[in-house]
Amino acid sequence: MSDTTPNDTPPDSHADCIFCKIARGEMNADIVLENDDVVVFRDINPQAPTHLLVIPRKHIPSLEDAADEDGELLGKVYLAARDAARKEGIAHEGYRTVLNTGANGGQVVFHLHVHLLGGRAMGWPPG
Ligand code: 5GP
Ligand code: ZN
Repeated sequence: MSDTTPNDTPPDSHADCIFCKIARGEMNADIVLENDDVVVFRDINPQAPTHLLVIPRKHIPSLEDAADEDGELLGKVYLAARDAARKEGIAHEGYRTVLNTGANGGQVVFHLHVHLLGGRAMGWPPG
């Protein structure tokens, strides 16, 4: 048990991680869908008409920190992105999923998340 993880914080959750707080319902977010493993909510600074973040409830800082046994959970993250795209009505037109990892990847929040962007045509290559 680390200094930053009080006894009432579930294992696999971090007391002072903002995305863990959203997953625990301790911080406000516009949640689009959720299940036992995954939460999908709107990005606070949207870069497209639809911009959602898909997170595992489990605190995995980045893809680089994912263990082999997280494979099924990561699959569930992407399937939740699929379901959220359908729910938002962007699945037919198409959308982009982005998983930023580390400094060069542009990751700012170190709780693994997949960006789901849609509602406009995306450029390539990304910036
Ligand atoms: P990253 O650069 O780490 O891949 O993306 C982090 C994303 O989280 C950014 O798009 C940013 O707008 C979003 N974000 C940061 N803080 C919050 C927050 O408190 N609530 C929500 N809904 N999104 C956040
Ligand atoms: Zn977290």
